[in-house]
Amino acid sequence: MAVQEILGYSPAEIIGRHFYDFFLEEECETLKTELLKVIQKREPFIALRNRNVHKDRHVVILETTGFPILGCEGEFLGYQGVDRDVTTRVKAAEALRESEERFRTLVEAMPDLIFVMDEDGRLIEGYGARLDRFYLPPEEFLGKRIAEVMPSEFASQVLPIIEKVVREGVTQTFEYSLDLPGGRRWFSSRISPLPPYAGISRVISIASDITERVLAEERMRAANQELERVLNTMGEGLVLMDSDHRMKQLNKKACELFQYPREEILGKEYTFWVHPDFVDILGKELKKREKGAKSTYEALYRRKDGSEFWARVTAVPIVDEEGNYQGSIGCLSDITEEKKLADEMRRLHEFNEKLIQVANVWINVTDPEGKVTLWNDEAERISGYSRHEVLGNSRIWEWLYPDEEYRERIWQQQQMLAKTGNSRRIDTTIRTKEGKEKVIAWYGTRLLDENEQGTGWMAIGHDVTQRRKDEEQLQAYANTLNEISKEKDRFMATATHELRTPLTVIYGFADLLTKRDDLNAEQRTKIEGIKNQAQRLGMLIANLLDISRIEAGKSALVLEQIDLSTILNKVITELTPRLKRKGQKLNYSQHPAQACADEMAVKQVLMNLLNNAISYTPVGGKITVRTKAIEGRMQVKICDTGIGITPEEQRSIFVEFYRTPQAKQIKPNGNGLGLSIVKRLLEEMHGSIGVRSAGKGQGSSFSVNLPADRAHAVGPVPPFA
Ligand code: ADP
Repeated sequence: MAVQEILGYSPAEIIGRHFYDFFLEEECETLKTELLKVIQKREPFIALRNRNVHKDRHVVILETTGFPILGCEGEFLGYQGVDRDVTTRVKAAEALRESEERFRTLVEAMPDLIFVMDEDGRLIEGYGARLDRFYLPPEEFLGKRIAEVMPSEFASQVLPIIEKVVREGVTQTFEYSLDLPGGRRWFSSRISPLPPYAGISRVISIASDITERVLAEERMRAANQELERVLNTMGEGLVLMDSDHRMKQLNKKACELFQYPREEILGKEYTFWVHPDFVDILGKELKKREKGAKSTYEALYRRKDGSEFWARVTAVPIVDEEGNYQGSIGCLSDITEEKKLADEMRRLHEFNEKLIQVANVWINVTDPEGKVTLWNDEAERISGYSRHEVLGNSRIWEWLYPDEEYRERIWQQQQMLAKTGNSRRIDTTIRTKEGKEKVIAWYGTRLLDENEQGTGWMAIGHDVTQRRKDEEQLQAYANTLNEISKEKDRFMATATHELRTPLTVIYGFADLLTKRDDLNAEQRTKIEGIKNQAQRLGMLIANLLDISRIEAGKSALVLEQIDLSTILNKVITELTPRLKRKGQKLNYSQHPAQACADEMAVKQVLMNLLNNAISYTPVGGKITVRTKAIEGRMQVKICDTGIGITPEEQRSIFVEFYRTPQAKQIKPNGNGLGLSIVKRLLEEMHGSIGVRSAGKGQGSSFSVNLPADRAHAVGPVPPFA
């Protein structure tokens, strides 16, 4: 009956069939053979496991216990069996084994290490494919305490955690590193309580090897630090904005640019830091970025203190894997200075342009082929050709210089200047559009690029037509004047010469008259007067003759090497009677004093100076004469202790006819021509004269300078140099 229930058949369906008809087909043969062997031996069988097929086709596991039924004589009558349906139990056992198997496979395959420990930290069980990586093989650490097999540092960390897990029944996580044979490794352990087993509290620790993660994190941290360092040392400001255009991050330079502490600007929208005039522009640029485009622009920004700065921005969008806009990164360079400079340059350029255009000189620029690239207002005015006619072509030069030969000559001249780079003046005659001739004075400058290569030529021209005419006229006047002056000199020379003859006659007759002894005192005085005046007139004529001779270039001086001391001796000897008469002492010690000069002229000079010294020095005064060789010249100094000359007078005494009031008193018959003749004679001989005096009554000192030799007779020698 039970069998019927278990297998789902009615008794009618079962009776008469073999019990093995219901066995699972694949097991049927084996079971049948086994059972028949037992039955043949008439032995009982106990709890024989067999799998049968239920009427519904599901498998039913039975444990059959069978006893042989024997007759009175012990004859075998059959078997009596009891079937127990063990399907559920067997299935459960199978499932358990299977799950255990699965757990083991899983655990073995897992990279994690699983330990079961008691509350004292004794390792009860250990699982995990990587257990071999641990300090000891599992068989060596199982049953041992953590403190015995693991480093003490680790043990002291983990034991209080196990204690806490046991005490509070909560899961704890902690991370640690261990120096393992393959190197240092990091683990993260989750320690959870387990139900007590046999009265012992247990915990399970699942340790995951997080070495790769830790190393990756470390690498990431280092990379981030490096990135941050780079970003912060960057000369450009870097800003990171989110998809709402809010400041997400910015580097040090950007903070410096905005002059905001980072925390004050983070999270703010772009309108916060951009100049109000640029909000729209930036808005458009951000729209571009949202569409995935890079954007580059210049904008004005506002710092915390309200000051402004210009920045050039290059920004790129950030998109995620699906291409969604996440924000953007912008790189800002401060171009305030650059902008200022550019503005300044532009202003300067405009100013230059204006200046060039309105300058009252002709300015034109040509390229290396002679094509005009700039033609200013004055160029238009002077030439008559508008810039419209000349810009971009080189024909203008043919119009201005129609004569080919002349044009070629100017071109050659310009080429030569271009080579030397000199800005020398060239005068050319142009033909204007109206056909007039004009003289232009040009200054040219070669234009060079940064590699010193010629890029053209800039010419500045002045219209000197009128000036040239004036100059020519002036020159004509000068020539005429020169002629007149020569005529005057000629006249003077003739006149003075002509005057001399009658004067000599007058003087001669007057002298003769004085020799008569029938003259009374009055007559004698008058005739002496005639003689004196004739003498004075004679001196004047002689001096005038000298001057006109010198001016007419007819002094005919012969410059040769002479000894001044000899001449000085002669002059002093001649003047000795005068010196004696005035009771004056002359000091001169003779030394050879070579000079390149005309002997007669030198004598005249020295005679004049010494005569003056005697004249303008009171009775009993002292005169000193010294010669001295100084750097290529010979100097004669004549000093006296006479009336002296004030600084104002010193400036005039070399001018013809000038005499100081004091001199006029002392020597009424002087004519003020002596020093001017002296000066002219010395200049003729490449010499000079100077005077020094401390003033009235302080004596005077005249210094005559002459070239020491022919080599130095080249120009005037400065006095008292
Ligand atoms: P003159 O002696 O005939 O007046 P000079 O041309 O020789 O003409 O001299 C011009 C003037 O220079 C003199 O009148 C005098 O005032 C001044 N002078 C020249 N030599 C001396 C001197 N040694 N001491 C003071 N004054 C002098």
